[in-house]
Amino acid sequence: MPNYDYECQKCGDRFEVFQSMNDAKLSLCRVDGCGGELKRLLGTGGGIIFKGSGFYQTDYRSSSYQAGAKADGGGSSAPPAKSGD
Ligand SMILES: [Zn+2]
Repeated sequence: MPNYDYECQKCGDRFEVFQSMNDAKLSLCRVDGCGGELKRLLGTGGGIIFKGSGFYQTDYRSSSYQAGAKADGGGSSAPPAKSGD
C-alpha cells in the first residue's frame, strides 16, 4: 500500500498516511483546533523529507562527533604526557 505525506497549510504539521489509491485523500488537518487545509505531497514527498533531514543529520553528527573526539583525545593523552614529564 502506498504511503502519502500530508502537510497542513495552516499549522505546518506534516505526517505520513498509509492508504490505498482508491481512498479519498485527506483534506483537513488532524490537529485538534486547527482544521487547516492539508496538501498532499505527491510521489517524491518522502524523498524531500529525507533530503532535508539528511542535511541536518550530517551537520549535527559532524559537530557532535568533533566534540566527542576532542573530549576523548584530551582525556586519554593527558596522563601519559604528565608522567613522561
Ligand atoms: Zn494544522
